[in-house]
Amino acid sequence: MPSVEPTKIQYTNIASQPSTASWQQQLGDLIRSPQELSELLDLKVEDLSAAADKLFELRVPRFFAGLMKKGDLNDPLLQQVLPAAAELNKVDGFSADPLKESGFNNSPGLIHKYHGRVLLIAANQCAINCRYCFRRHFPYQDNHLGRDQWLSTLESISKDSSISEVILSGGDPLAQSDKQLKWLTEQIQQIPHVKRLRLHTRLPVVLPDRINDECLNWLKDQRLQTSIVLHINHPQEISPELISACSRLKEAGIRLFNQSVLLKGVNDNVDVLAQLSEDLFTAWIQPYYLHQLDHVAGAAHFLVDDSHAKALYHQLRAQLPGYLVPLLTQEIAGKSAKTPLL
Ligand SMILES: *Cc1c(COP(=O)(O)O)cnc(C)c1O
Ligand code: SF4
Repeated sequence: MPSVEPTKIQYTNIASQPSTASWQQQLGDLIRSPQELSELLDLKVEDLSAAADKLFELRVPRFFAGLMKKGDLNDPLLQQVLPAAAELNKVDGFSADPLKESGFNNSPGLIHKYHGRVLLIAANQCAINCRYCFRRHFPYQDNHLGRDQWLSTLESISKDSSISEVILSGGDPLAQSDKQLKWLTEQIQQIPHVKRLRLHTRLPVVLPDRINDECLNWLKDQRLQTSIVLHINHPQEISPELISACSRLKEAGIRLFNQSVLLKGVNDNVDVLAQLSEDLFTAWIQPYYLHQLDHVAGAAHFLVDDSHAKALYHQLRAQLPGYLVPLLTQEIAGKSAKTPLL
């Protein structure tokens, strides 16, 4: 079996942050120009598609770019953020709202599709723009809430006693200030039937300085049982800084899970997926979901066909303990939960 490189990666340090830059400064200083990213990585600008960048702009934290290998257009982290000409292809079955979320978006900022759980769009931006994102066409501007609107959305949760878990999603909820998030969780806590709080976030991965004391304080200082579902697709994303952020979260009593998206050219390989599970476990993160790509317009070139996806899953099961094998699922519009692919 070929050995897997990613755990031994060399950091390029192309963009190491001075340790004094706060997470807010780093979020305000993202790489947004394909030209700048190309230069930092010693690539040719022609490798990046300006037209694709216009449709969905490049956004990458400098920290995350620092985990990429220089001069390698096929770098698995670069592939996730690189505006590619293939995005312009119109492909049958790939649409702007593949999950038909707009039909479940009745209160602003609230998506209630699954029993017992509601998803709050707690921020309208991410630190990173992932090319395959199923929300790349989401009308965030219509879901940008002020406190009054939040209060009415929270009131609709308080009227439905079947809801026991509130999921903060986005965008990336941790792109929001701690002050806002603290206020929001204080309101959620006052709803007696809500027992659990969950955050779906990629920020600890792409900008680990986000997990500072202020953040840990509001996460700890509340009655809800809290978990964080990270989004990591490749072992090269698991940096020492992420591991240290995870250890602080774990000490704060927060359970950590991971969801990945199966992506052609990034992680459609059993050795990479097995290494990912091993490295997640080392960082105290429990593998949770491996999602088959949502059919969002612009992402068709990342699709791994179902038979290959299933074969990868069986190979993983044969190599790893059961608890390190994420559930392979597909989100089918209109179903009451994510659907296992097997
Ligand atoms: C994925 C998802 C959830 C959470 O589902 P779990 O199976 O509990 O992880 C909740 N609401 C929406 C809209 C989702 O897409
Ligand atoms: S971090 Fe998540 S929500 Fe944000 S662009 Fe990436 S996949 Fe989409």
